[in-house]
Amino acid sequence: GEPVQSADIASDPLWTASRACVVMSYGVRACWATPLRGADGRLVGALACFCDTARPATPRELELASTVVHLASIALSSARDAASIRSSEASFRSFVENAPAAIFRETLHGHLVSTNAAMLALLRYPDGESLARAASAGQLYADDAARRRLVAALEADDLARGLEVDWCRADGTRVTVRLSARAYRDERTRVWLWEGYAEDVTPLRQAESALRRNEKLAAVGQLVSGVAHELNNPLSSILHFAEDLLDDRRTQGDAEALGMIRDQARRSRSIVRDLLSFVQQRDVVAEAVSLAGTVAATVRAMMPSAEMLGVRVHLETAQESVVHLDRAALEQVITNLLSNAIQAAGMGGEVWVRTACGPGCCRIVVEDSGPGISPEVLPRIFDPFFTTKPTGEGTGLGLSVSLGIVEQFGGRIATEPRGGNLPGSRFVVTLPLTGGPADTAIAPAVAATPARPVMEPGSCRVLLIDDEPSIRSALRRFFTRRGWQVEEAGDGAAGLALLSRDAGRFALVVSDLRMPGLSGVDLHDRLVADRSQVLPRMIFSTGDVASHEAASFVQRTSCPVLQKPFELAELDDLITLLTERGVLQG
Ligand code: ADP
Repeated sequence: GEPVQSADIASDPLWTASRACVVMSYGVRACWATPLRGADGRLVGALACFCDTARPATPRELELASTVVHLASIALSSARDAASIRSSEASFRSFVENAPAAIFRETLHGHLVSTNAAMLALLRYPDGESLARAASAGQLYADDAARRRLVAALEADDLARGLEVDWCRADGTRVTVRLSARAYRDERTRVWLWEGYAEDVTPLRQAESALRRNEKLAAVGQLVSGVAHELNNPLSSILHFAEDLLDDRRTQGDAEALGMIRDQARRSRSIVRDLLSFVQQRDVVAEAVSLAGTVAATVRAMMPSAEMLGVRVHLETAQESVVHLDRAALEQVITNLLSNAIQAAGMGGEVWVRTACGPGCCRIVVEDSGPGISPEVLPRIFDPFFTTKPTGEGTGLGLSVSLGIVEQFGGRIATEPRGGNLPGSRFVVTLPLTGGPADTAIAPAVAATPARPVMEPGSCRVLLIDDEPSIRSALRRFFTRRGWQVEEAGDGAAGLALLSRDAGRFALVVSDLRMPGLSGVDLHDRLVADRSQVLPRMIFSTGDVASHEAASFVQRTSCPVLQKPFELAELDDLITLLTERGVLQG
């Protein structure tokens, strides 16, 4: 730690070991050495000066050595600092690069000057350059207003915390991120750069919106099912009377008016069914369904309304595939998407429906040439009761009901931008695939209509059990016109009394399920116990399919159950079926 002098190396005991070597090899005779210390005072080396004559150092030489040592120690410590800065920079870079959160530096003019791997993965870009190019072209923020909000927050406070914005990925899909950023200011104290990190909150937001949907569902569920049930009975009578009156010869004006009443009742019925399927908690029955067949049949059924609106519908179905779900529910999903697309396309517009199969899943794509969905509307389209359509034209239930159905079968519905910057919308339903090519075991997409046998006048007697007089009256008209004799009961107990007296009198019993006192379900169970021979001749109807009791009854009974308001043609079909089975013989 102290300066050392050897005025004569040859005689200095310090040099014993290496004397010969030093003296002989280099011809040195004297040496003076000064310790070199680092910035923290630690000894890091020494400066040794050698002389070829044996003498002590002069004061001037010692002073020179000490100046050199001082400068050397400064140089040495800065060199060490630089190395440690380099190594700490590398370690910091690797920390940022490998951080699980997306980290970035962005300038006011939209240039991304640095990004890490998590940021590239989040936005699905292959490298930093392509992401930087997209950002410079203004393609990072889905909405410029959100970026302006970020700049304003940084201008105000240098720090922005928890600001949510939507970013666009390389493939055009969106991701909602929560940003936290710190600003740097230029010499005029304007924010010109910020560094921030982004957290993907899309799954959180999706879960929240699912929760909100469920909460809304629970809140309105009870109300809706009550209202729907109350509406079903009057709607049934309106529909039945209108259908029945249309069977007679009418003036053109009357026929048109009756047709209008029937069509509006059908429309109201489909709204009520939408409401009910929105709140329904019952287990749907999954079966093997031909995807292409069901899509084609549903599209065919919608063709007349598309033509009326001047919309061309193109259908392209891929190789046949089998999905495992409730066919009626699948038809409902396709109908909802298609009717939205037809409405959006409008007069002269076009709609494309395609099916495609990939490994393990299949897709139904419904695309239209309409105006598309604006970014403000897009996040809300799957919300129940959200509609942008005028009152009376939209219920806002189509997409939320469809999403519920598709999710129930392990699938999903998403919107995608149409390729090539085309205007319009594209909805994609993805469903898990469950089998190979469709075979004959698959439920047919369209049921064949059986030929209708004619009843002999007065040959059969029907018992109508319903607490709603208008429904009994509409059904009485229906049966009387077909040559049946009709008896009526206003509740389950009165019906049971008639059946207990002489069940054999009735070729057919049509009973409501929900009635005060003895319900249709109770009546059924009493008959199972001691008059089971009547059961094959019974048809039940209910407007209350959403209730647990009705759903479990449908599961366990072998009797047909019609959902109110049903079409008289459905009742006709059932009677035909029972007649063909030999059950209904007057
Ligand atoms: P509704 O059709 O009764 O309004 P939906 O739940 O089916 O209810 O749709 C909700 C909203 O989503 C519509 O009001 C509309 O704003 C938007 N939407 C759905 N499909 C399309 C489409 N193909 N093109 C444009 N907007 C659409």
